[in-house]
Amino acid sequence: MNTTEISELQKKYLIPTYAPELALVRGEGTNVWDAEGNEYLDFLAGIAVLNVGHCHPNVVNAIQQQAAKLMHVSNLYYNEVQPQLAKKLSGIAGGGKCFFCNSGAEANEGLIKLARLRGSDKGRFEIITMKNSFHGRTLATLTATGQEKVQKGFAPLPEGFVHAEFNNLDSVKEAVTEKTAAILVEAVQGEGGIIPADPEFLTGLRKLCDEKDILLLCDEVQTGIGRTGHWFGFQAYGIEPDAFSLAKGLGNGFPIGAIVAAPKVADVFQPGHHATTFGGTPLACAAAIAVLDTIEQENLLENTKAMGALLLEKLNEIADQYDWIEGARGTGLMVGLVLSDSALPLQKLLQKKGVLTLATAGQVLRMLPPLTVTPEEIEQAAALVAEACAELDL
Ligand SMILES: *Cc1c(COP(=O)(O)O)cnc(C)c1O
Repeated sequence: MNTTEISELQKKYLIPTYAPELALVRGEGTNVWDAEGNEYLDFLAGIAVLNVGHCHPNVVNAIQQQAAKLMHVSNLYYNEVQPQLAKKLSGIAGGGKCFFCNSGAEANEGLIKLARLRGSDKGRFEIITMKNSFHGRTLATLTATGQEKVQKGFAPLPEGFVHAEFNNLDSVKEAVTEKTAAILVEAVQGEGGIIPADPEFLTGLRKLCDEKDILLLCDEVQTGIGRTGHWFGFQAYGIEPDAFSLAKGLGNGFPIGAIVAAPKVADVFQPGHHATTFGGTPLACAAAIAVLDTIEQENLLENTKAMGALLLEKLNEIADQYDWIEGARGTGLMVGLVLSDSALPLQKLLQKKGVLTLATAGQVLRMLPPLTVTPEEIEQAAALVAEACAELDL
């Protein structure tokens, strides 16, 4: 099928929650191809999902082998793969236990339920989240999300969510009440426009939570699985949350989410408290184990730090030449080019030139290439960004 045929079929039969233009049919590493055979550098990676690149052979093999052996059994039975994945995640998190689910929103729902259950005997149910945050699209997680645009039209929203200012510790302190059960925060706001937390903010939150017996929850859905050059975004700050959520990069495109709960709260959920049919299938867990092993074997945390620094440097060189580009910011391979106007024209022009990126939070061009990205690919993408900026400046 060509792009027109695919788009006509989609418009007829899909609920129009998205408005795509490109039809992608094949991927390998950092490259994807559209239905007409045009090649693109994928600097979006399925929105921070394809951390080891498109169709990494380790992940493909793991899925193929597990699919031929056992795909799903229900959590009414043990499966040998799920605890092995949990052991690996616990190891890199420095302890704790896991619950597996299917998406980022579902993982965050799990965190919210865990915090409420723990607080229930003391009447503590409020969750403080940050303005400009993003936590998902279910009713609870869109209420947690500190952006009115995702909430509009869906009232009445669930109770018990309070929003404070990101990177403003006093604002969070003011939001704490007798009813506060938890604080939920991203180490780097992703959808919010690639805004890293200040070190004093996260360490301050950790201290506040310890003093008041409040749970510190980190949403690592986008920052997790090596994206920032650390396994988890909070690890750059020397703090440990009481529990955190994962999804996006964990399965490299195979849907899987997780919550990882530190020993202190690892046994809050008991049989009957929480469940999901597809959580932790052997197939999903086999994919995720292959992802974690690949990140380790290919030293991708190191590569992420190095390539992230190179990308920032290249983008800042470009930014210096135009007064309508404020600069580049980010951590690891979570990078944003901050413009003084909408980033959409630049995103569209780059797509024409063969680089996929995403205009985020209005004026930020977000780049999230696979962690396997090479210096040559960074140079190539940066050259095209430079070309596009020069054209837009005319
Ligand atoms: C994408 C994202 C989510 C939602 O994940 P889904 O898998 O789309 O439900 C939640 N939190 C953050 C920080 C995200 O980036």
